[in-house]
Amino acid sequence: MAKPADTRTAGRKPVAKATRSTAETEKIRAAMAARRDELRAEYDQTLSEITELQRDRLTDSAGDDQADTGTKTLEREQEISLANSILERITQVERALERLDEGGYGWCERCGNPIPVERLAAFPSATLCVTCKQLEERR
Ligand SMILES: [Zn+2]
Repeated sequence: MAKPADTRTAGRKPVAKATRSTAETEKIRAAMAARRDELRAEYDQTLSEITELQRDRLTDSAGDDQADTGTKTLEREQEISLANSILERITQVERALERLDEGGYGWCERCGNPIPVERLAAFPSATLCVTCKQLEERR
């Protein structure tokens, strides 16, 4: 399929001209804040699991063979990388909330249409609407 080099300049409205209603902005803010709280709870949960695994490793290692120790270390590493990815998502949501306050958040970078609230809540780092995202993936 032939594609123009830059679809953004092909007579499309500049992103900044679009407006979103205050009510909708508030809806996004509420969804994002809820998402952030959810992620924080998940993060706390993961941290306490890490602490627990660490405690198991220290107190319950007398009878462990090499394989047990290896499994526990692996589990702990997986929990830590999970915790890190949750933390990253929290940061994404917080950045998104900042951009929302500045009015520069929630618009499709490609077509300039507002990205649906549900999509933003699920993927705070989304910069494309579903349609454009699908086009992007099909390339
Ligand atoms: Zn789009």
